[in-house]
Amino acid sequence: MTEAYEIIEHSYDVVIVGAGGAGMRAALGMAASGLRTACVTKVFPTRSHTVAAQGGMAASLGNMGDGDNWRFHMYDTVKGSDWLGDQDAIEYMCREAVPAVLELEHYGVPFSRTRGGMIYQRPFGGQTIGFGKQMAQRTCAAADRTGHAILHTLYQQCLKHNTEFFIEYFALDLLMDDDGVCRGLLAWNMEDGTLHRFRAHRTVLATGGYGRVYFSCTAAHTCTGDGNAMVLRAGLPLEDMEFTQFHPSGIYGSGCLITEGARGEGGYFTNSEGERFMERYAPSAKDLAGRDVVCRAMTIEINEGRGCGPRKDYIELHLEHLGADILHERLPGISETARVFAGVDVTRQPIPVLPTVHYNMGGVPTNLHGEVTTKHKGNAETVVPGLMAIGEAACVSVHGANRLGSNSLLDIVVFGRAAALRATEMLRPGEGHPPAPQAATDQAIARLDRIRWSKGKTGTGDIRLAMQRTMQKHCAVFRTGPLLDDGARELANVMATMRDDLAVADRSMMFNSDLTEALELDNMLAQANVGLRSAIGRTESRGAHAREDFPKRDDENWLKHTLSWVDREGHVRLDYRPVHLQPLTNEVATIQPKERVY
Ligand SMILES: Cc1cc2nc3c(=O)[nH]c(=O)nc-3n(C[C@H](O)[C@H](O)[C@H](O)COP(=O)(O)OP(=O)(O)OC[C@H]3O[C@@H](n4cnc5c(N)ncnc54)[C@H](O)[C@@H]3O)c2cc1C
Repeated sequence: MTEAYEIIEHSYDVVIVGAGGAGMRAALGMAASGLRTACVTKVFPTRSHTVAAQGGMAASLGNMGDGDNWRFHMYDTVKGSDWLGDQDAIEYMCREAVPAVLELEHYGVPFSRTRGGMIYQRPFGGQTIGFGKQMAQRTCAAADRTGHAILHTLYQQCLKHNTEFFIEYFALDLLMDDDGVCRGLLAWNMEDGTLHRFRAHRTVLATGGYGRVYFSCTAAHTCTGDGNAMVLRAGLPLEDMEFTQFHPSGIYGSGCLITEGARGEGGYFTNSEGERFMERYAPSAKDLAGRDVVCRAMTIEINEGRGCGPRKDYIELHLEHLGADILHERLPGISETARVFAGVDVTRQPIPVLPTVHYNMGGVPTNLHGEVTTKHKGNAETVVPGLMAIGEAACVSVHGANRLGSNSLLDIVVFGRAAALRATEMLRPGEGHPPAPQAATDQAIARLDRIRWSKGKTGTGDIRLAMQRTMQKHCAVFRTGPLLDDGARELANVMATMRDDLAVADRSMMFNSDLTEALELDNMLAQANVGLRSAIGRTESRGAHAREDFPKRDDENWLKHTLSWVDREGHVRLDYRPVHLQPLTNEVATIQPKERVY
């Protein structure tokens, strides 16, 4: 069945999908430079997942008297990425970090302060001074509510600069023309049921991560990677989708995050024997080693029978020794989270935690201006005209195989700004638009209709759970070929159920959360599919991708990024592009690959 939709037309210089930190930093820069800027978002801007970020944003300000500078930050980030990060993009990000934090401060972000009135900085995992010599204090924090502070400030700046928001609009698909140029997008106004066609000279995807593909994750229910899936449907690749970051301290049971800042302030893990086991796995950095390293250690402790609790299936995080004053001043938010979600008073008891899905290193491939790239006629980094991507949705790649804590708030602000600078440089305000591509519009509506009018018997919730359990079991902290292959077979069944037997009970177009969730599930399945296939393809261990059957990193064959495409039948095609080992300027030399120890 179909039904004619009312389509309302809009034209802008730029349209941004997403009002998290990335989307709003880009929006304010574009609007401030005179470009007519629309920002489309499925949730109210300040409800975007950025609001949940706790620990802080890395920048080598050196406010804590440790002599930090951006070269150390660059070194740590390259090492943290297990050498898969692109060194030109990493250099750019680490240099720009310092002005980016100061700019946020001037916009109004209420950072915590040192006694001398400077921005307060705490230690985070993998941060060092002197290229690994001693721990740094690099993460700029507003207590443990840094994302909240940044997001609210950016929203106010966007309003000041006249960004036009389209709130509770769900972006459905990109509108690509026959020449492969992105001309805008189609969105659904979830409140009144109308469809909206946005024409724009640049469409910017800032749609965040897709943690909800897994059963247990720290991300909001809205983190379904819609932008990534739109890119796949447009026939373009995603990059490095095998690299999913697990965070060492999700609360056992609920998955809610306890920031790494808790360990930065002096917290530590123990096993059932009361042993501070990280001393064995990472003798110098201990509890503040890279997240992938800590998660593997925790998983081994549990697998070898040293987990805590009656079922020996979690690890304990201790903060009691820090004292009520420090906990109240620096970690008030997580103290409350622990009370509500674990029933724990952190001044007296340890918090039960488990490695929990937290961040997606992979996403839409871009250059360091935020322009989307694809492999075309042998050139692995051909720019896709009209399309940009930033933030967790993008893969620049500054995080490579493993992101360092507090580098994502940095990434979203730095590359949100870079995208605004690029758009300002390339566009003149108010230029005319060619007609919107009708074939792409029709295709987007056909997909909406296919899902809206589906007549099967299995509800979205059941199919989603099957996908989440498959990913949690088959594509988690440790992987093997047979485990991944079984996962791919299971996922193929889940996708077949989605295609042939989806039940959507509510056919209306107004506040239809049943339909919204079905559309999001369709998006997530595509990412689970390319994620599993990319993981099968990579026969080595690097960063967050730990293959027990290929336990060593293999730079000879695998110092390269995975690109993954999917066709209409769900078949995945993989290809690769080289890592950029060359930094951006000749002020720093290539950081040569070596063994990664903490
Ligand atoms: C609990 C938690 C704590 C974290 N703590 C830290 C930290 O301390 N430091 C750090 O560096 N990183 C942290 N991270 C990671 C970091 O917060 C995120 O990677 C980052 O905020 C992502 O920002 P973003 O702008 O890319 O996306 P998001 O903030 O996720 O925003 C996505 C936006 O896209 C919109 N959107 C998505 N799909 C659609 C659609 N179909 N139509 C319309 N709009 C759509 C949403 O409405 C939303 O506005 C944390 C993450 C979590 C989950």
